[in-house]
Amino acid sequence: MSTLLVRNAHVLVTMDAARREIAGGGFFARDGVIEAVGPDESLPDSADEVLDVSGQIVLPGLVNCHHHLDQTLTRNLPAGQDAELFDWLKAHYRVWARRSPPASRTATLVGLAELALSGCTTAFDHAYLFQNGCRVDDQIAAAAEIGVRFVASRGSMSLGESLGGLPPDSCVEREDDILADCERVIGRYHDASHGAMLRIVLAPCSPFSVTDRLMRESAAMARAHGVRLHTHLCETADEEVFTLAKFGVRPVEYMAGLGWVDDDVWFAHAVKVNDAEIGLFARCGTGVCHCPSSNMRLASGIAPLRKYLDGGVKVGLGVDGSASNDGGHLLGEARQAMLLARLKLAVEPEAARLWTGAREVLEVATRGGAAVLGRDDIGALEAGRCADFFTLDLDAIGYAGGLADPVAAVVFCAPRTVRHCWVHGRPVVTDGRVVTVDMALVVEEHNRHAAALIG
Ligand SMILES: [Zn+2]
Repeated sequence: MSTLLVRNAHVLVTMDAARREIAGGGFFARDGVIEAVGPDESLPDSADEVLDVSGQIVLPGLVNCHHHLDQTLTRNLPAGQDAELFDWLKAHYRVWARRSPPASRTATLVGLAELALSGCTTAFDHAYLFQNGCRVDDQIAAAAEIGVRFVASRGSMSLGESLGGLPPDSCVEREDDILADCERVIGRYHDASHGAMLRIVLAPCSPFSVTDRLMRESAAMARAHGVRLHTHLCETADEEVFTLAKFGVRPVEYMAGLGWVDDDVWFAHAVKVNDAEIGLFARCGTGVCHCPSSNMRLASGIAPLRKYLDGGVKVGLGVDGSASNDGGHLLGEARQAMLLARLKLAVEPEAARLWTGAREVLEVATRGGAAVLGRDDIGALEAGRCADFFTLDLDAIGYAGGLADPVAAVVFCAPRTVRHCWVHGRPVVTDGRVVTVDMALVVEEHNRHAAALIG
Protein backbone atom coordinates (compact mmCIF):
# COMPACT_ATOMS: atom_id res chain seq x y z
CA MET A 1 0.00 0.00 0.00
CA SER A 2 1.39 3.40 -0.88
CA THR A 3 -0.30 6.77 -0.52
CA LEU A 4 0.14 10.04 -2.39
CA LEU A 5 -0.86 13.54 -1.35
CA VAL A 6 -0.85 16.30 -3.96
CA ARG A 7 -1.43 19.66 -2.30
CA ASN A 8 -1.40 23.45 -2.59
CA ALA A 9 -2.41 23.70 -6.26
CA HIS A 10 -3.06 27.25 -7.38
CA VAL A 11 -6.12 25.67 -8.92
CA LEU A 12 -7.04 22.01 -9.42
CA VAL A 13 -9.29 21.21 -12.38
CA THR A 14 -11.32 18.11 -11.52
CA MET A 15 -13.47 17.52 -14.63
CA ASP A 16 -15.77 15.73 -12.18
CA ALA A 17 -19.56 15.66 -12.64
CA ALA A 18 -19.85 19.25 -11.34
CA ARG A 19 -16.71 20.34 -13.25
CA ARG A 20 -15.30 21.77 -10.00
CA GLU A 21 -12.19 23.95 -10.14
CA ILE A 22 -10.70 24.07 -6.65
CA ALA A 23 -8.45 26.95 -5.61
CA GLY A 24 -5.84 25.75 -3.11
CA GLY A 25 -6.87 22.17 -3.86
CA GLY A 26 -5.29 18.78 -3.95
CA PHE A 27 -6.07 15.09 -3.72
CA PHE A 28 -5.19 11.98 -1.77
CA ALA A 29 -4.60 8.65 -3.55
CA ARG A 30 -3.85 5.10 -2.47
CA ASP A 31 -2.12 2.63 -4.78
CA GLY A 32 -2.72 4.86 -7.78
CA VAL A 33 -6.44 5.40 -7.17
CA ILE A 34 -7.86 8.69 -5.86
CA GLU A 35 -9.72 8.56 -2.53
CA ALA A 36 -10.42 12.23 -1.89
CA VAL A 37 -10.28 15.52 -3.81
CA GLY A 38 -10.85 18.95 -2.30
CA PRO A 39 -9.38 22.00 -0.61
CA ASP A 40 -6.15 21.18 1.23
CA GLU A 41 -7.72 21.50 4.66
CA SER A 42 -10.15 18.67 3.79
CA LEU A 43 -7.39 16.20 2.92
CA PRO A 44 -5.20 14.01 5.16
CA ASP A 45 -2.10 15.78 6.55
CA SER A 46 0.47 13.28 5.32
CA ALA A 47 1.14 10.42 2.94
CA ASP A 48 4.01 8.16 1.89
CA GLU A 49 4.70 10.68 -0.86
CA VAL A 50 3.76 14.35 -0.77
CA LEU A 51 3.91 16.54 -3.87
CA ASP A 52 3.61 20.25 -3.22
CA VAL A 53 2.36 21.96 -6.37
CA SER A 54 2.34 25.58 -5.21
CA GLY A 55 2.18 28.01 -8.12
CA GLN A 56 0.97 25.27 -10.46
CA ILE A 57 -2.31 24.34 -12.09
CA VAL A 58 -3.24 20.64 -11.80
CA LEU A 59 -5.30 18.98 -14.52
CA PRO A 60 -6.49 15.43 -15.16
CA GLY A 61 -4.11 13.55 -17.46
CA LEU A 62 -4.99 14.05 -21.12
CA VAL A 63 -6.18 11.07 -23.17
CA ASN A 64 -4.87 10.62 -26.70
CA CYS A 65 -7.33 8.62 -28.82
CA HIS A 66 -5.43 8.28 -32.10
CA HIS A 67 -1.73 8.02 -32.88
CA HIS A 68 0.78 6.08 -34.96
CA LEU A 69 3.80 6.16 -32.67
CA ASP A 70 6.08 4.47 -35.19
CA GLN A 71 5.68 7.50 -37.44
CA THR A 72 8.05 9.46 -35.19
CA LEU A 73 10.66 7.75 -37.41
CA THR A 74 9.29 9.60 -40.45
CA ARG A 75 8.38 13.06 -39.22
CA ASN A 76 8.65 15.69 -41.86
CA LEU A 77 9.60 13.20 -44.60
CA PRO A 78 10.44 15.45 -47.57
CA ALA A 79 8.45 13.29 -50.02
CA GLY A 80 5.35 13.67 -47.85
CA GLN A 81 5.54 17.31 -46.89
CA ASP A 82 3.13 18.68 -49.47
CA ALA A 83 0.60 15.96 -50.25
CA GLU A 84 -2.99 15.04 -49.44
CA LEU A 85 -3.78 11.77 -47.68
CA PHE A 86 -3.62 9.19 -50.49
CA ASP A 87 -0.39 10.53 -52.04
CA TRP A 88 1.05 11.07 -48.56
CA LEU A 89 0.29 7.44 -47.66
CA LYS A 90 1.88 6.17 -50.89
CA ALA A 91 5.02 8.17 -50.04
CA HIS A 92 5.24 6.46 -46.63
CA TYR A 93 3.97 2.85 -46.82
CA ARG A 94 7.22 1.21 -47.98
CA VAL A 95 9.36 3.27 -45.61
CA TRP A 96 7.21 2.27 -42.62
CA ALA A 97 7.32 -1.39 -43.71
CA ARG A 98 11.14 -1.36 -43.45
CA ARG A 99 11.25 -0.34 -39.78
CA SER A 100 12.72 -2.90 -37.38
CA PRO A 101 11.63 -3.99 -33.88
CA PRO A 102 14.39 -1.90 -32.17
CA ALA A 103 13.35 1.12 -34.26
CA SER A 104 9.74 0.56 -33.22
CA ARG A 105 10.85 0.54 -29.56
CA THR A 106 12.59 3.91 -29.82
CA ALA A 107 9.70 5.36 -31.83
CA THR A 108 7.22 4.31 -29.16
CA LEU A 109 9.38 5.80 -26.40
CA VAL A 110 9.88 9.06 -28.27
CA GLY A 111 6.19 9.39 -29.07
CA LEU A 112 5.02 8.57 -25.55
CA ALA A 113 7.66 10.81 -23.95
CA GLU A 114 6.56 13.68 -26.17
CA LEU A 115 2.94 13.07 -25.19
CA ALA A 116 3.75 12.84 -21.46
CA LEU A 117 5.68 16.12 -21.65
CA SER A 118 2.46 17.68 -22.95
CA GLY A 119 0.21 16.25 -20.21
CA CYS A 120 -0.93 13.00 -21.78
CA THR A 121 -1.20 10.03 -19.40
CA THR A 122 -3.17 7.57 -21.57
CA ALA A 123 -2.35 6.95 -25.21
CA PHE A 124 -4.02 4.80 -27.82
CA ASP A 125 -1.80 3.74 -30.69
CA HIS A 126 -3.14 2.62 -34.06
CA ALA A 127 -0.43 0.31 -35.39
CA TYR A 128 -1.52 -1.49 -38.56
CA LEU A 129 1.61 -2.26 -40.56
CA PHE A 130 3.52 -5.30 -39.32
CA GLN A 131 6.43 -6.29 -41.56
CA ASN A 132 10.13 -6.95 -41.05
CA GLY A 133 9.60 -8.79 -37.77
CA CYS A 134 7.68 -5.98 -36.05
CA ARG A 135 4.96 -6.98 -33.62
CA VAL A 136 2.70 -5.01 -31.33
CA ASP A 137 4.62 -6.65 -28.47
CA ASP A 138 7.55 -4.28 -29.18
CA GLN A 139 5.38 -1.25 -28.47
CA ILE A 140 3.70 -2.79 -25.46
CA ALA A 141 7.10 -3.42 -23.86
CA ALA A 142 8.22 0.15 -24.58
CA ALA A 143 5.04 1.64 -23.10
CA ALA A 144 5.62 -0.37 -19.90
CA GLU A 145 9.21 0.91 -19.82
CA ILE A 146 8.17 4.57 -19.81
CA GLY A 147 5.05 4.09 -17.68
CA VAL A 148 2.35 5.76 -19.79
CA ARG A 149 -1.07 4.06 -19.69
CA PHE A 150 -1.36 2.32 -23.04
CA VAL A 151 -4.12 1.15 -25.32
CA ALA A 152 -2.50 -0.84 -28.10
CA SER A 153 -4.08 -1.87 -31.35
CA ARG A 154 -3.45 -4.99 -33.29
CA GLY A 155 -4.30 -3.16 -36.49
CA SER A 156 -4.12 -4.56 -40.00
CA MET A 157 -4.02 -4.05 -43.75
CA SER A 158 -5.07 -6.81 -46.16
CA LEU A 159 -6.30 -5.05 -49.31
CA GLY A 160 -3.25 -4.46 -51.49
CA GLU A 161 -3.02 -2.67 -54.82
CA SER A 162 -3.64 -5.83 -56.84
CA LEU A 163 -7.04 -6.21 -55.17
CA GLY A 164 -7.98 -2.56 -55.65
CA GLY A 165 -6.65 -1.24 -52.33
CA LEU A 166 -4.25 1.66 -51.78
CA PRO A 167 -1.20 0.05 -50.07
CA PRO A 168 1.44 -1.91 -52.02
CA ASP A 169 0.94 -5.69 -51.86
CA SER A 170 4.26 -5.97 -50.01
CA CYS A 171 2.84 -4.00 -47.08
CA VAL A 172 -0.28 -6.09 -46.41
CA GLU A 173 -0.71 -9.37 -44.52
CA ARG A 174 -2.77 -12.53 -45.08
CA GLU A 175 -6.09 -12.24 -43.31
CA ASP A 176 -5.82 -15.55 -41.50
CA ASP A 177 -2.41 -14.51 -40.13
CA ILE A 178 -3.87 -11.18 -38.98
CA LEU A 179 -6.80 -12.80 -37.20
CA ALA A 180 -4.58 -15.41 -35.52
CA ASP A 181 -2.27 -12.68 -34.21
CA CYS A 182 -5.23 -10.58 -33.03
CA GLU A 183 -6.45 -13.57 -31.01
CA ARG A 184 -2.94 -14.08 -29.57
CA VAL A 185 -2.48 -10.43 -28.58
CA ILE A 186 -5.89 -10.17 -26.89
CA GLY A 187 -5.27 -13.39 -24.96
CA ARG A 188 -1.82 -12.38 -23.87
CA TYR A 189 -2.27 -8.71 -23.01
CA HIS A 190 -5.83 -7.38 -22.74
CA ASP A 191 -6.62 -6.25 -19.20
CA ALA A 192 -10.26 -5.27 -18.65
CA SER A 193 -9.79 -4.43 -14.96
CA HIS A 194 -10.28 -1.02 -13.33
CA GLY A 195 -7.12 1.02 -13.67
CA ALA A 196 -5.64 -1.26 -16.34
CA MET A 197 -2.31 0.03 -17.64
CA LEU A 198 -2.77 -1.94 -20.88
CA ARG A 199 -5.73 -2.73 -23.09
CA ILE A 200 -6.01 -4.09 -26.61
CA VAL A 201 -8.16 -2.79 -29.46
CA LEU A 202 -8.71 -4.36 -32.89
CA ALA A 203 -8.13 -1.74 -35.55
CA PRO A 204 -8.17 -2.63 -39.27
CA CYS A 205 -6.68 0.41 -40.98
CA SER A 206 -9.36 1.86 -43.28
CA PRO A 207 -12.02 0.94 -45.86
CA PHE A 208 -9.43 1.35 -48.63
CA SER A 209 -6.78 -0.97 -47.11
CA VAL A 210 -8.88 -3.79 -45.60
CA THR A 211 -11.53 -6.13 -47.04
CA ASP A 212 -15.13 -6.23 -45.83
CA ARG A 213 -14.48 -9.78 -44.63
CA LEU A 214 -11.66 -8.64 -42.34
CA MET A 215 -13.80 -5.76 -41.00
CA ARG A 216 -16.60 -8.22 -40.17
CA GLU A 217 -14.37 -10.87 -38.64
CA SER A 218 -12.45 -8.33 -36.59
CA ALA A 219 -15.75 -7.03 -35.19
CA ALA A 220 -16.91 -10.52 -34.34
CA MET A 221 -13.64 -11.36 -32.58
CA ALA A 222 -13.58 -8.05 -30.68
CA ARG A 223 -17.12 -8.61 -29.42
CA ALA A 224 -16.39 -12.19 -28.42
CA HIS A 225 -13.55 -10.89 -26.21
CA GLY A 226 -15.04 -7.57 -25.07
CA VAL A 227 -12.39 -5.39 -26.71
CA ARG A 228 -13.11 -2.21 -28.65
CA LEU A 229 -12.90 -1.47 -32.37
CA HIS A 230 -11.26 1.42 -34.17
CA THR A 231 -10.50 2.52 -37.71
CA HIS A 232 -9.93 5.61 -39.84
CA LEU A 233 -13.19 6.88 -41.36
CA CYS A 234 -14.42 9.84 -43.40
CA GLU A 235 -10.99 11.45 -43.30
CA THR A 236 -11.00 12.81 -46.86
CA ALA A 237 -13.12 13.25 -49.97
CA ASP A 238 -10.96 10.58 -51.68
CA GLU A 239 -12.22 7.94 -49.25
CA GLU A 240 -15.81 8.87 -50.03
CA VAL A 241 -15.09 8.54 -53.76
CA PHE A 242 -13.54 5.11 -53.06
CA THR A 243 -16.51 3.61 -51.16
CA LEU A 244 -19.06 5.16 -53.54
CA ALA A 245 -17.24 3.67 -56.53
CA LYS A 246 -16.55 0.26 -54.97
CA PHE A 247 -19.62 -0.31 -52.79
CA GLY A 248 -22.13 2.32 -53.98
CA VAL A 249 -22.48 3.88 -50.52
CA ARG A 250 -20.86 6.53 -48.38
CA PRO A 251 -18.25 5.38 -45.81
CA VAL A 252 -20.56 5.49 -42.77
CA GLU A 253 -23.25 3.41 -44.51
CA TYR A 254 -20.59 0.93 -45.61
CA MET A 255 -19.33 0.53 -42.04
CA ALA A 256 -22.85 0.36 -40.61
CA GLY A 257 -23.52 -2.56 -42.93
CA LEU A 258 -20.51 -4.36 -41.48
CA GLY A 259 -21.69 -3.95 -37.87
CA TRP A 260 -19.21 -1.18 -37.26
CA VAL A 261 -21.49 1.62 -36.03
CA ASP A 262 -22.00 0.77 -32.38
CA ASP A 263 -21.03 1.89 -28.87
CA ASP A 264 -17.82 -0.17 -28.81
CA VAL A 265 -16.43 1.58 -31.91
CA TRP A 266 -14.68 4.90 -32.45
CA PHE A 267 -13.51 6.43 -35.69
CA ALA A 268 -10.45 8.59 -36.26
CA HIS A 269 -11.10 11.90 -38.04
CA ALA A 270 -14.75 11.68 -39.18
CA VAL A 271 -14.34 14.94 -41.08
CA LYS A 272 -16.57 14.27 -44.11
CA VAL A 273 -19.88 13.45 -42.44
CA ASN A 274 -23.41 14.76 -42.96
CA ASP A 275 -26.02 15.59 -40.32
CA ALA A 276 -27.71 12.19 -40.60
CA GLU A 277 -24.39 10.45 -39.95
CA ILE A 278 -23.70 12.64 -36.92
CA GLY A 279 -27.16 11.69 -35.62
CA LEU A 280 -26.43 8.02 -36.20
CA PHE A 281 -23.16 8.22 -34.22
CA ALA A 282 -25.03 9.91 -31.35
CA ARG A 283 -27.84 7.33 -31.30
CA CYS A 284 -25.47 4.36 -31.52
CA GLY A 285 -22.90 5.67 -29.04
CA THR A 286 -20.16 5.58 -31.67
CA GLY A 287 -17.18 7.74 -30.77
CA VAL A 288 -15.02 10.08 -32.80
CA CYS A 289 -11.38 11.09 -32.41
CA HIS A 290 -10.80 14.63 -33.63
CA CYS A 291 -7.27 15.25 -34.99
CA PRO A 292 -7.19 18.92 -35.99
CA SER A 293 -3.48 19.38 -36.79
CA SER A 294 -3.37 16.33 -39.04
CA ASN A 295 -6.55 17.42 -40.82
CA MET A 296 -4.97 20.81 -41.51
CA ARG A 297 -1.58 19.35 -42.45
CA LEU A 298 -3.12 17.04 -45.09
CA ALA A 299 -5.76 19.59 -46.20
CA SER A 300 -8.44 17.05 -45.27
CA GLY A 301 -10.99 19.54 -43.98
CA ILE A 302 -12.55 20.71 -40.71
CA ALA A 303 -14.40 18.11 -38.64
CA PRO A 304 -17.74 19.32 -37.26
CA LEU A 305 -16.61 19.44 -33.61
CA ARG A 306 -19.39 21.85 -32.58
CA LYS A 307 -22.06 19.61 -34.11
CA TYR A 308 -20.60 16.51 -32.48
CA LEU A 309 -20.64 18.17 -29.06
CA ASP A 310 -24.14 19.59 -29.51
CA GLY A 311 -25.43 16.29 -30.89
CA GLY A 312 -24.15 14.29 -27.94
CA VAL A 313 -21.51 12.31 -29.85
CA LYS A 314 -18.61 11.04 -27.74
CA VAL A 315 -15.55 13.01 -28.91
CA GLY A 316 -11.91 12.63 -27.91
CA LEU A 317 -8.75 14.24 -29.17
CA GLY A 318 -5.77 12.79 -31.02
CA VAL A 319 -2.46 14.12 -32.25
CA ASP A 320 -2.52 11.47 -35.03
CA GLY A 321 0.76 10.04 -36.28
CA SER A 322 3.93 12.06 -36.25
CA ALA A 323 4.19 11.95 -40.03
CA SER A 324 1.06 14.07 -40.41
CA ASN A 325 1.24 16.42 -37.43
CA ASP A 326 4.39 16.32 -36.97
CA GLY A 327 4.39 16.83 -33.25
CA GLY A 328 2.73 15.11 -30.35
CA HIS A 329 1.73 17.95 -28.03
CA LEU A 330 -1.74 16.97 -26.83
CA LEU A 331 -2.40 20.17 -24.89
CA GLY A 332 -1.39 22.02 -28.05
CA GLU A 333 -3.85 19.84 -29.94
CA ALA A 334 -6.64 21.02 -27.62
CA ARG A 335 -5.71 24.56 -28.57
CA GLN A 336 -5.79 23.63 -32.26
CA ALA A 337 -9.23 22.07 -31.77
CA MET A 338 -10.54 25.31 -30.27
CA LEU A 339 -8.99 27.48 -32.95
CA LEU A 340 -10.09 25.27 -35.85
CA ALA A 341 -13.68 25.16 -34.55
CA ARG A 342 -13.58 28.96 -34.64
CA LEU A 343 -12.26 28.97 -38.19
CA LYS A 344 -15.27 26.87 -39.15
CA LEU A 345 -17.45 29.73 -37.87
CA ALA A 346 -15.90 31.89 -40.55
CA VAL A 347 -15.89 29.46 -43.47
CA GLU A 348 -19.13 27.55 -42.76
CA PRO A 349 -21.20 29.81 -40.49
CA GLU A 350 -24.37 27.77 -41.04
CA ALA A 351 -22.59 24.63 -39.84
CA ALA A 352 -21.19 26.00 -36.61
CA ARG A 353 -22.97 28.90 -35.01
CA LEU A 354 -21.55 28.72 -31.48
CA TRP A 355 -18.10 29.46 -30.16
CA THR A 356 -16.13 26.50 -28.84
CA GLY A 357 -14.43 27.40 -25.56
CA ALA A 358 -11.22 26.52 -23.75
CA ARG A 359 -12.99 24.46 -21.06
CA GLU A 360 -14.91 22.54 -23.72
CA VAL A 361 -11.75 21.41 -25.50
CA LEU A 362 -10.10 20.53 -22.17
CA GLU A 363 -13.13 18.36 -21.46
CA VAL A 364 -12.82 16.70 -24.89
CA ALA A 365 -9.14 16.01 -24.15
CA THR A 366 -9.89 14.42 -20.75
CA ARG A 367 -13.41 13.12 -19.99
CA GLY A 368 -14.22 13.00 -23.69
CA GLY A 369 -11.25 10.79 -24.51
CA ALA A 370 -11.99 8.50 -21.58
CA ALA A 371 -15.56 8.01 -22.84
CA VAL A 372 -14.33 7.32 -26.37
CA LEU A 373 -12.03 4.61 -24.99
CA GLY A 374 -14.92 3.22 -22.91
CA ARG A 375 -13.28 4.03 -19.57
CA ASP A 376 -14.75 5.43 -16.36
CA ASP A 377 -11.48 5.08 -14.41
CA ILE A 378 -9.56 7.95 -16.06
CA GLY A 379 -10.30 11.41 -17.51
CA ALA A 380 -11.16 13.22 -14.25
CA LEU A 381 -9.71 13.82 -10.81
CA GLU A 382 -12.32 12.38 -8.47
CA ALA A 383 -12.62 9.57 -5.95
CA GLY A 384 -12.47 6.17 -7.61
CA ARG A 385 -10.53 7.31 -10.68
CA CYS A 386 -6.82 6.80 -11.29
CA ALA A 387 -4.24 9.34 -10.07
CA ASP A 388 -3.33 10.41 -13.63
CA PHE A 389 -2.54 14.13 -13.70
CA PHE A 390 -0.17 16.84 -14.87
CA THR A 391 0.85 20.27 -13.68
CA LEU A 392 1.99 23.48 -15.35
CA ASP A 393 3.98 26.31 -13.80
CA LEU A 394 1.81 29.41 -13.86
CA ASP A 395 4.76 31.77 -13.42
CA ALA A 396 5.99 30.91 -16.93
CA ILE A 397 6.66 33.76 -19.35
CA GLY A 398 4.00 32.47 -21.72
CA TYR A 399 1.25 32.86 -19.11
CA ALA A 400 2.39 36.24 -17.80
CA GLY A 401 -0.48 38.69 -17.85
CA GLY A 402 -3.07 36.00 -18.59
CA LEU A 403 -3.81 34.68 -15.13
CA ALA A 404 -7.23 36.26 -14.59
CA ASP A 405 -8.45 32.83 -15.77
CA PRO A 406 -5.59 30.32 -15.43
CA VAL A 407 -7.71 27.37 -16.62
CA ALA A 408 -8.45 29.02 -19.95
CA ALA A 409 -4.87 30.35 -20.13
CA VAL A 410 -3.45 26.84 -20.57
CA VAL A 411 -5.47 26.55 -23.81
CA PHE A 412 -5.40 30.14 -25.10
CA CYS A 413 -1.67 30.72 -24.46
CA ALA A 414 1.05 28.90 -26.39
CA PRO A 415 1.34 25.22 -25.41
CA ARG A 416 4.03 24.55 -22.80
CA THR A 417 5.97 21.60 -21.44
CA VAL A 418 4.51 20.23 -18.21
CA ARG A 419 6.23 20.52 -14.83
CA HIS A 420 4.99 17.11 -13.60
CA CYS A 421 3.12 14.28 -15.28
CA TRP A 422 2.12 11.27 -13.19
CA VAL A 423 0.37 8.06 -14.22
CA HIS A 424 -1.38 5.83 -11.69
CA GLY A 425 0.28 7.67 -8.83
CA ARG A 426 3.78 7.33 -10.27
CA PRO A 427 5.95 10.04 -11.86
CA VAL A 428 6.76 9.86 -15.57
CA VAL A 429 7.82 13.52 -15.84
CA THR A 430 9.36 15.45 -12.94
CA ASP A 431 10.42 19.09 -13.25
CA GLY A 432 10.00 18.93 -17.01
CA ARG A 433 12.10 15.80 -17.61
CA VAL A 434 11.15 12.19 -18.27
CA VAL A 435 12.37 10.23 -15.26
CA THR A 436 11.56 6.63 -16.21
CA VAL A 437 13.78 6.33 -19.29
CA ASP A 438 17.04 7.99 -20.33
CA MET A 439 15.54 9.90 -23.24
CA ALA A 440 18.84 11.40 -24.43
CA LEU A 441 20.08 7.91 -25.27
CA VAL A 442 16.77 6.94 -26.83
CA VAL A 443 16.66 10.04 -29.05
CA GLU A 444 20.19 9.37 -30.28
CA GLU A 445 19.33 5.78 -31.16
CA HIS A 446 16.01 6.86 -32.66
CA ASN A 447 17.72 9.35 -34.98
CA ARG A 448 20.08 6.61 -36.16
CA HIS A 449 17.12 4.34 -36.96
CA ALA A 450 15.28 7.17 -38.72
CA ALA A 451 18.30 8.08 -40.85
CA ALA A 452 18.84 4.43 -41.84
CA LEU A 453 15.17 4.05 -42.74
CA ILE A 454 15.11 7.06 -45.03
CA GLY A 455 18.59 6.55 -46.43
ZN1 LIG B 1 -4.27 7.95 -38.37
